[in-house]
Amino acid sequence: MPTSSFTPESSAVPCPVVESLDAILPEEPLLMMGAGPVPIPAAVAKANTIVINHLGGAMVKVIGQVKTMARYVFQTQSKWVLGVAGPGSAAMEMAISNLAWEGTRVLAIKNGFFSERMAEMGRRVGAQVSTLEVADRSVASLEQIAEAIRRERPEIVTVVQGETSNTVWNYHLKDIAALAKSAGALVIVDAVCTLSTMPLEMDAWGIDAVITGGQKGLSSIPGVSLIAFSDAAWARVKGRTAPNAHWCLDASLAENFWHNAGYHYTAPVSGVLALHEALRLVCAETLEKRFARHLKCSLALQDGVAAMGLKLYTPAACRLNSVVGIEVPAGLSPGDVCSHISRQHQVEISGSFGLPIVRVGQMGEQCREHNLFRTVHALGRTMVDLGVGVDLPAGVAALERALSEGK
Ligand SMILES: *Cc1c(COP(=O)(O)O)cnc(C)c1O
Repeated sequence: MPTSSFTPESSAVPCPVVESLDAILPEEPLLMMGAGPVPIPAAVAKANTIVINHLGGAMVKVIGQVKTMARYVFQTQSKWVLGVAGPGSAAMEMAISNLAWEGTRVLAIKNGFFSERMAEMGRRVGAQVSTLEVADRSVASLEQIAEAIRRERPEIVTVVQGETSNTVWNYHLKDIAALAKSAGALVIVDAVCTLSTMPLEMDAWGIDAVITGGQKGLSSIPGVSLIAFSDAAWARVKGRTAPNAHWCLDASLAENFWHNAGYHYTAPVSGVLALHEALRLVCAETLEKRFARHLKCSLALQDGVAAMGLKLYTPAACRLNSVVGIEVPAGLSPGDVCSHISRQHQVEISGSFGLPIVRVGQMGEQCREHNLFRTVHALGRTMVDLGVGVDLPAGVAALERALSEGK
């Protein structure tokens, strides 16, 4: 006999006893100075608390403004800007899975962990992926790239602007895109950690798809990402014969929501509102001023770290400013440093996928002078506490000097 009475005591899965968030989270939030997510401005946090109709008039207006602002941030006139519910990797998979399929020749320029992810996504959609392996702490020369393009005749070239894992900056990006373009290939750029922290000009540099996440340079929340396709890339999306196997990531379906005010899936409305505010703050600041702020803060941080006696991981020529890699002194592990600085100083920094470094981010709200002083102090004190002979006052003095000279 079916019964309608449900008794928790007799249920197979008993009701769990859990702690509240207040019990789990520290009373004062940790200062998020790692490789992302980064601190968010109050306007972004406030927007993230709001839920509205995902298909109503207000949302249509918000989506229109998000696209307009994103075009400025991507520096593109292309109509084909879309958002995606998901991490930066979902935007990456949207680029790869819409533009590549069974047999597509893809050349992946592999600088590290994240640029390898694009190659892996290409293999998973059945593309014929060749990778140009680049040694750690360096970038491929244009000759090497030209030679790989001649050899592999790719239809698509993938490249990361800033390889967050080993903190390498692909400063040749514009020339790489030009080489690929002149060979008839489409160029996909991962700008997850770099967008709005340093110049990237999608149209002027001839880039066909740019992807970014919310939680890095843009200082929004994780979970809502952005992608822009060029007209040539969009023509390839529209011209494919077999549909994208990833239904949620199908750009033609996403067009319904992002361009025709229709339904694809329920958009992450709060996250889109948060992204709107993050983009609005970028526009209010202007890209020029934002790039200058990032550059000044990152160089000052690097000065402070070096002056206290720690070593920066990447040579200056290809050093990424958006995420700074710092060698961990012999005898310590990245985990030792990260857990000490978090516990004792309430500052969060990152390790890096097995490399002997810790990473401090310089993205969005991380690039504020007060956050830099707290971070340099906390890092220096952590080293002293762990028995490393650093000169902390010299580090703080160098930071101050670089910041005041850079004004
Ligand atoms: C963080 C990052 C990603 C991955 O972003 P998720 O939001 O974690 O998926 C990809 N590429 C680069 C360069 C990144 O910095």
